[in-house]
Amino acid sequence: MNTIEKVIKSMNKEKEPLKLSNINIEHIYIQENIYPLLQQYLLDQNYTNVLLIGDDNTVVFMNSIIEQCQNEHLTFSNTVLLPNQNQDVIADEQNVCQSLIAAQQTNVDAILAVGSGTIHDVARYVAFTLKKPFVSFPTAPSVDGFYSSGAPLILRNMKVTVTAKAPKAIFADLHILKNAPKSMIAAGVGDILGKYTSIFDWKFETKWRKSELYEPTLLLTEHALAKTVNSLSEISLGYLSGISRLMEALIESGIGIALYGQSHSASGSEHHLSHFWEIHHLINEEKQLLHGEKVSVATIEILRLYQTLFPKVYKQHNFLTDEDWDYLKKELDTLPTVEEIIHFLKEVEGKTELEQLPISSSLFNESIFKASSIRPNRYTFLRFLIDYHSREVEQYVTSRT
Ligand SMILES: [Zn+2]
Repeated sequence: MNTIEKVIKSMNKEKEPLKLSNINIEHIYIQENIYPLLQQYLLDQNYTNVLLIGDDNTVVFMNSIIEQCQNEHLTFSNTVLLPNQNQDVIADEQNVCQSLIAAQQTNVDAILAVGSGTIHDVARYVAFTLKKPFVSFPTAPSVDGFYSSGAPLILRNMKVTVTAKAPKAIFADLHILKNAPKSMIAAGVGDILGKYTSIFDWKFETKWRKSELYEPTLLLTEHALAKTVNSLSEISLGYLSGISRLMEALIESGIGIALYGQSHSASGSEHHLSHFWEIHHLINEEKQLLHGEKVSVATIEILRLYQTLFPKVYKQHNFLTDEDWDYLKKELDTLPTVEEIIHFLKEVEGKTELEQLPISSSLFNESIFKASSIRPNRYTFLRFLIDYHSREVEQYVTSRT
């Protein structure tokens, strides 16, 4: 039993029952020398005709899989997703269509995603559409979307999240993950650190709507966060132990979303800002930034905004009881300071400033006021500030930039 399964099992002791029907994964392997395990799994499942989906950066791993897993009962084919004019591989119509045709033409038994987030998004949608099993082979610990049943696709330059398929198994080779570009490892850390503000937003929303937190997902996400923060030096030194814990944390966060059936635990205002910037870059046909890099910087900005404005609006709204305000104050006070988050990110050489991405101050200002509208069904603390204290936000943003 691996660590993630142990964490999930241990949560059965919690008072709330786990919605295990939302989770359908057979194996999660995060270890060295993964190829024999992958080969055995494919044989055991009778997946004899497997399509590998990757890109130029992961061709080397697709070739290794074909070489190391070769067997008289296994046939592999591959399709290499192509970058757009900005040299970004995106989950757009062309790459989806290319992969669908490749899978249909070779009449595959299973789809294997070999790469990071975007490749997984394409592969999980193709597997869902063709009703084929989907297996994950991550090559960088860069994002928490490896275990996910939704695929954010880019259709006519707009981001649309569609239903797709979660992986039946994940095979993560620690040597491959450790040798991923440092920027991608830092992005994975940033995607996890974003849970500080997403969890706060979720707690705010439950108080605002008089609803409840889903305890198992909260615990799993907090576990992922603590595990990452406690492993920062091992991650920065490239130790397999640190990389392994980061990968576990990313998968745990994804499983937390699946357990709850919604993404509140993993995606709050910091993600809404990141999505707003991403759409801006798409519309303007500008080069994309790593998801986790945007989330890193957005987390710092949102935390700074919250920690500055919360004391100014504290108990100023009677939709929340005094107890609710006190609870939220305590929750915000227990978060790390902005300086601590910057320190965490610098430890793994992550990005911490808008200028490093870069995001202009005018785009940042616009995103603070408009990003919440990306998820109209969510009620984050940022949305509350915009709805009821826009003047204070305006003053903050003006003094900030
Ligand atoms: Zn994320």
